[in-house]
Parts: sequence; C-alpha cells; structure tokens
Amino acid sequence: MIVVMSTTATARDISEVIARIRSIGYEVHLSEGKERTIIGVIGRGRPLDREQLGLLPGVQDVVPVSHPYKIASREYHPDDTLIPLNGIEVGGPNLAIIAGPCAVESREQIIETAYAVKEAGATALRGGAFKPRTSPYSFQGLGEEGLRYLAEAREQTGLPVVTEVMEPATVQVCCDYADVLQIGARNMQNYALLHAVGESQHPVLLKRGMSSTIEELLMAAEYILSHGNMRVMLCERGIRTFETATRNTFDLNAIPVLKQASHLPVIADPSHALGKWEYVESVSMGAIAAGADGLILEVHMDPDHAESDGRQSLKPERFAALVSKITQLAPIVGRKVTTHSPAAQHG
Ligand code: PEP
Ligand code: MN
Repeated sequence: MIVVMSTTATARDISEVIARIRSIGYEVHLSEGKERTIIGVIGRGRPLDREQLGLLPGVQDVVPVSHPYKIASREYHPDDTLIPLNGIEVGGPNLAIIAGPCAVESREQIIETAYAVKEAGATALRGGAFKPRTSPYSFQGLGEEGLRYLAEAREQTGLPVVTEVMEPATVQVCCDYADVLQIGARNMQNYALLHAVGESQHPVLLKRGMSSTIEELLMAAEYILSHGNMRVMLCERGIRTFETATRNTFDLNAIPVLKQASHLPVIADPSHALGKWEYVESVSMGAIAAGADGLILEVHMDPDHAESDGRQSLKPERFAALVSKITQLAPIVGRKVTTHSPAAQHG
C-alpha cells in the first residue's frame, strides 16, 4: 500500500500520516518527489483501513500496490532514480558506459585497460577481483590485491570502479576500494549478501540471475532498497533458454518492462548475454534503442590470453568503435554520451 500525499500537504500532515501507520504496526518508507511525497507502507501489521487513512489531512489517495515489490515500483516513486557516476547521473539523459576486463589479472593489465577504455569514452571501469567461476579449478581472482590495483587504476585515470562482491564478509573491503558493488547473476538471490550491500549504503549494480524472472530481479532489488539504499542499478545480462548458439539469450523485453515497472536505472550487459565479442555491438545498439540507461562491457587488451571470458571480450579499438556508434545512435532515442576523454571529444 502507498499513501500519495497531495501537492499542498504540509510537513505536519506527513508526520501525522506516518504516526498513524506506525501505530498499527507498520514501517514507512518516504519518497520525496519533485512534486509530492509518497509514503510506502512496509511490513506486516494489523489490517489497514484504506478509507480511514484517506481521510487524514493532506492525503490525496491510498493506493494498493499491485506488485510484491514496493519501493522498487514506479507507483511508489514515479520519477526516475538518478545515480551519480563520474559526473553524469545514471538514469538521466547521459548514458553510462562501464568497461573493463572480466577479471583483474595484474596491476599492469588493469591500469593499461583503464587508460584504454577511458580514452575510448568509458564512464567507469569494471574488473572482478573476486570471481564466481563455474569450475573451482578456474582462476578465482586476485582478491584484495585485485581491489588495490583497481583503486590504483582509478587514482591514475579518475575512472570510478565497479567490482563484484560475493559474500557479506567482503562487503566492507569492497566498499573501501570500489565505487559500485556488483552483485553477480549467481548471487542475485543470496539474501544475506543483498541485506549486507543494502546496509552498506554503497551504490549497487544488481545483475539478473540467469534463470530469474523480472519480478524476482525486482524483489532482489527490494531487499537492498528496504535498507534505505536507493542507489541500485538493475542489469540485464542474458537468461538461460534452449538456444545454444549464444552463451545466454539477451532479454531485450526486460528493458522496457523494467523501465515501466521501476524507477531504477537499467544497464545492459551484452558481453555475458552473447558470450561472443562479434555480437556485442549489435545487441548494445539494440539495448540502447530499447531504452537502457547504459552498458557494461568486457574489454581486454589481449582477449586470446584472458584468464576469463576472453571469447566475449572486445579489444580496446573495437570498444572505441562501439562507443562512437552509440554516441551517434543516442540522440535518436533522446540520450547522449558525454565522455571526459580528449580523443572522444575531438574525434
Ligand atoms: C561478470 O561480470 O564477470 C560476471 C561474472 O557476470 P555474471 O554474474 O552476469 O555472470
Ligand atoms: Mn565475465
């Protein structure tokens, strides 16, 4: 249930509504929009009398939320949520372009890649220090050493860092080094981790589980939001289908569905969806045309020798060509690419 306050409601009206809701055993979550305040009724308490709530001063409407997620819903927060990242606001007209290797492999590798993706116009640098691998015998990441190299790459290039956190125990150390915590597809329903990143109040990139529905993705986001951490970006990274020609199937449908259902930004990850670099550009264009707020792309200096996901990784020059195409496409769908890179500005 959400309580929509009228545009003329006073602060006192709002606190009286909050007090009434709390008195019957519920918690509230406030959404202060440009025009009006919306009060989310959270938890389980005694049955709510919608009509009575509707009679309180300043209340315009009491609306039952039709989905199990509340704070993530557009009904609750009609304006787009904007998340600052390197001088842009993700979710606004500027597209976010996050790029870098699947995994941090060495200090030199991540610093060289950071300069290359920055030159091509990236907004942020990605790189996994803790890697969730299908096989326990595959490269598992450099751990905290990898985080230190990421922080050094940020120091040198100014690019904010996005890195995956795999367990509650390492949330703090990831916050210490990174700007955005990535929750991987395999951990989308790791509720202890969702609670921990929610509590951290750090920006989060939440990937859709490979067999999860859109509603389950929004419910996972709700866990984080319920801690008052509103800086959540949703990420479509492909789902499992019967198709074997590509690693996963990019669910383009998810973009307009998520944008309508939720106010949270939506980032597309064609690299993990397709699994082959040669398809990444087309699907990146498709995702932006469909309304995605940005892209996360794997870029490697030497994909043939990458420790992980080389087959889907773009070389820097291909990434640069992709950014230039996205820059041309963006205005057609009312978006733009703002880069801080001298090459991209003059090129
Ligand atoms: C990754 O970003 O490298 C990764 C492991 O992604 P996903 O969780 O989507 O498989
Ligand atoms: Mn990867």
